[in-house]
Amino acid sequence: MIHNIWAVGRNYSEHAKELGNDLPTEPMIFLKAGSCLSEGNDVILSPHALGVHHEIEMVLQFGADLQIHAYGLALDLTDRDMQNRLKNQGHPWTLAKSFKNSCPVSRLIPLQSLNEINNFDLELYINGELRQKGNTSQLIFSPQVLMNFVQKHFPVKPYDLLLTGTPAGVGPLHKGDKLVAKLGSQLSHNWVVK
Ligand code: ZN
Repeated sequence: MIHNIWAVGRNYSEHAKELGNDLPTEPMIFLKAGSCLSEGNDVILSPHALGVHHEIEMVLQFGADLQIHAYGLALDLTDRDMQNRLKNQGHPWTLAKSFKNSCPVSRLIPLQSLNEINNFDLELYINGELRQKGNTSQLIFSPQVLMNFVQKHFPVKPYDLLLTGTPAGVGPLHKGDKLVAKLGSQLSHNWVVK
């Protein structure tokens, strides 16, 4: 059972810039409730409002020993209008980040060492068009740093997930959109918005 989804904001500089944010000097962690997870499905159920933004991310999973033992692809679905309103008011992001089905996740692949995931292209195609592209070597805070930070500050549980941030190119989803996400040559996952 997955209890918590730890997530990081502004971990690719081009994405931080596209939303007009300064680069962080330490990881900016927020939570999506574990119950937001939609595991292994190929359908994204239309969230409470259409037009939520896609944020493709590499996701990591903690093992029983609280080290990272698996990785995959995740969408950190975000109600951007709501998030902007909350930011302006200085309020937490929960309403914009933690709604039902807001975290679709692919199958997860076991890993032996974090070195295996430090140079993956991360891509999201929508209806055949490349919309988001980055490389995990561009992460401002590496998986190792994120893992250490989260463990230091929070009660991490076995099998918790850790979202590592999204590259530039975020934008709204529409009904019927066909998404293809890729992580290196290791993993590909399709979603359809219904
Ligand atoms: Zn995100």
